[in-house]
Amino acid sequence: MKILVVGGGGFIGSHLLEEILKSCRDWHVTAIDISGNKISHLLTDENIDFFEIDIIRDSIEKYVKNCDVVLPLAAIASPAVYVTDPLRVFELDFEANLQIVKWAVKYEKRVIFPSTSEVYGMCEDEEFREDESNCVTGPICKQRWIYSCSKQMLDRIIYAHGLKNNLNYTLFRPFNWIGPKLDDISNPDNGSSRVVTQFLSNIIHGKDIKLVDGGNQIRSFTDISDAIAALIKIIKNENNCATQQIFNIGNPHNQVSIKNLAHEILELAKKYDAARSLAEKINIVEIEPHEYYGKGYQDVSRRVPFIKRAETLLRWKPVVPLKESLGKIMDSLFGANYLR
Ligand code: NAD
Ligand code: UDP
Repeated sequence: MKILVVGGGGFIGSHLLEEILKSCRDWHVTAIDISGNKISHLLTDENIDFFEIDIIRDSIEKYVKNCDVVLPLAAIASPAVYVTDPLRVFELDFEANLQIVKWAVKYEKRVIFPSTSEVYGMCEDEEFREDESNCVTGPICKQRWIYSCSKQMLDRIIYAHGLKNNLNYTLFRPFNWIGPKLDDISNPDNGSSRVVTQFLSNIIHGKDIKLVDGGNQIRSFTDISDAIAALIKIIKNENNCATQQIFNIGNPHNQVSIKNLAHEILELAKKYDAARSLAEKINIVEIEPHEYYGKGYQDVSRRVPFIKRAETLLRWKPVVPLKESLGKIMDSLFGANYLR
């Protein structure tokens, strides 16, 4: 199988490529990204080709034409940017990805597209279901929703191509996937990364952890190893189990409030020699959403997946508890000298 991974140098892409090169030796990967830093250790493998290409500037039509399956993973996926630069989010997350979908239709290629748990937005269901839960976003002045809308529109376009042109697609919806290499830890500015990296970056830089709106929001964190296991099953697509399906890929057992997450991360950090003295000086403080993100922000108060479909069709189950997942991230940052 010839697999094209656009955005292959990112968090999900780098973990996916590592797993493919380790355990799927009869596959060949072409990876495209504007940066190969996270995958530089993989690039001597004969089963991978890497091209440094900006997909907003340059066409990748020939790469889509030459593959069997394309995963368009390049996107901006940090809420702070949805508010500060919504047009950049639209340009990459919607326009550039739409072009890839159009080429996949033209050349009759399979597309495995990263939708997002964010498409459910402020839906009030206890657990979000792929075919039943509503996609609920806020008013236009709340620019946070540009990401959700961009992804939702692509979901709808891909789904429609499935019906009209028999496009072979799978949509997967990550629920807060976490692991080493999630985001850049070196920038502690408010909103510079997703929440787990943000809190760790705060600790490393001696800055207080900030709970937006009290931190009562619930998220379900999913270990990247569980997530990649699901993605590999989707790519393998045994008996067409993933064909024209939408899957929530998340871990409902790892649901936690952001406040409890902050306490858990801080307590864990104190168990590492390299982080203890820093962590002991950190306070957990509250901050108003508009002060943290600006006035275009609106939050999701509860995000928990219903994953029966992935369990049944993919025969997949997430198994890594949150604490172990956080431990793996901290081992990668502080060295594995945690006093377990
Ligand atoms: P990421 O930011 O780590 O990776 C995105 C990659 O795209 C980066 O390596 C970046 O350099 C690359 N990129 C950005 N602009 C580019 C351009 N113009 N040309 C080429 N490459 C470019 O994000 P991720 O967490 O790996 O997410 C991958 C996909 O999964 C995204 O579509 C994201 O929206 C989706 N997703 C992720 C999560 C999650 O929990 N990580 C949740 C929901 C959806
Ligand atoms: N959050 C927070 N403090 C921070 C960063 C994030 O309280 O320093 C909150 C944010 O408001 C949201 C949750 O943590 O409710 C998860 O944020 P993330 O950026 O990971 O993205 P989301 O899950 O909202 O897509």
